Amino acid sequence: MFAKAFTPNFYLEPVDNELQLRIGTPSPAAPKEKRILVIGGGVSGMTSAWALMDQGYDVTILSDRWADRKNRITSQIAGALWEYPPAVCGKHTDAISLCHSKGWAMTSYKIFEQIVTKLGETDGIDHGVRMRIANFFFDTPLEARPDQLEKWEEICSLSHTIKGLKRSADLIQHHSVDQKAGMKDAYQLLSPAVDTDVYMMWLHFVLSCKGATFVTERIKGSLLDQEEELLSRFDAYAIINATGLSALELAGDETVYPLRGAIIRVKNDGTKFPKLTEALAVTHDETYGTDEDMVFIVPRNDNILILGGITEPNEWNLNLTVDTPVIKRMRERCNAFVPGLENAEYDDETDLLQGLRPFRGSNVRVERETAPRKDGSHSRIVHTYGQGGSGFSLSFGCAGTVVSLVQEIEASKPPAKMELVNAVCY
Ligand SMILES: Cc1cc2nc3c(=O)[nH]c(=O)nc-3n(C[C@H](O)[C@H](O)[C@H](O)COP(=O)(O)OP(=O)(O)OC[C@H]3O[C@@H](n4cnc5c(N)ncnc54)[C@H](O)[C@@H]3O)c2cc1C
Repeated sequence: MFAKAFTPNFYLEPVDNELQLRIGTPSPAAPKEKRILVIGGGVSGMTSAWALMDQGYDVTILSDRWADRKNRITSQIAGALWEYPPAVCGKHTDAISLCHSKGWAMTSYKIFEQIVTKLGETDGIDHGVRMRIANFFFDTPLEARPDQLEKWEEICSLSHTIKGLKRSADLIQHHSVDQKAGMKDAYQLLSPAVDTDVYMMWLHFVLSCKGATFVTERIKGSLLDQEEELLSRFDAYAIINATGLSALELAGDETVYPLRGAIIRVKNDGTKFPKLTEALAVTHDETYGTDEDMVFIVPRNDNILILGGITEPNEWNLNLTVDTPVIKRMRERCNAFVPGLENAEYDDETDLLQGLRPFRGSNVRVERETAPRKDGSHSRIVHTYGQGGSGFSLSFGCAGTVVSLVQEIEASKPPAKMELVNAVCY
């Protein structure tokens, strides 16, 4: 897609087990002479590939699809607002995953912020990351929602990293949120927000400049069953499985399921409603017994505002339109949050994007394959999937763990399951 143009003057480096962004060229790492096969061209695979390359590995990224404006992959559909876990789609509840996710999210926050503050355009290509104020609204005081109060208190304890913290019910009036939305409490923070089309192209460009090899192909069947053949065919030392929902087939993980989501795209040029520069969100809450309570309004870039959201488990069909009742109701929920939004015009390129968040029974899995190979030896597959509604929020953190798991394989350590005890809990 891109010609290898120049060497980017930035790199990822693990420091005390946490990935950090550094400016400069990586100090020549001892050549590892090892190739890693990364399967999946979404945000999880591409970020893992970047982290591995900066550690000196050669990387081949194999994917059946790549970021493409005409036929977007899930990583492009994402609202791509960084959120402290659990995310507003309300399904990240597994204790082990949540504990790891908090650490992964903080790593990602720092790196996205550094991308904004330290990197300009890369050879004329924008990275598409911005820091935006994100407002979260609640229909009761936080004190009546212990889970949400605890989340806010954790966020406050991280104020050395997470900027712009403020809790006040005045935010409801400040944003002229309609009374019919019934909001009673709110807080805000400064959050990375990603223009996914731009960022995924930028990632592709950075990886191609760093020398990655790209192969377009679909892998079928169990990875474990064909591990040796794949390692030999791609002259690879290890395999990273970052295939999102396809982990159902490739990892034989029957707990993988889709959570269908959708976003409406409207023009945000200030003509039909006051131009919005901040994000506005209401968390999905299962205790209300409805899947239709989530609000997710995020400026995609300077021109487009995206409106969401819906959370439909096990719904595989991508057959929604702006006239489907569930999408009309989603739009009405959003209208209560921005005066004049009902007059908004659809984006000329597309009015609606829909996608399947790649969920898993016990949420995110960044773990080595624990089943042995046919010959009884340890598998060299590392899984990174099940990021659900948080693939961007967790991307750099998960990539750091992928690097350390590959290093574990090199050190001939046996694979272990994700555990609470090993997690970085913030
Ligand atoms: C409506 C919506 C809103 C969202 N909002 C947010 C948000 O605000 N913040 C956030 O962080 N996340 C959000 N997400 C979630 C985010 O999009 C996902 O978590 C993320 O895209 C997962 O990335 P991934 O790389 O793991 O999977 P994917 O993006 O699905 O990428 C998988 C890749 O693997 C390839 N692949 C699959 N199967 C095979 C195979 N058999 N052989 C070869 N290649 C294969 C695919 O072509 C693709 O390139 C949202 C998602 C949706 C749908």
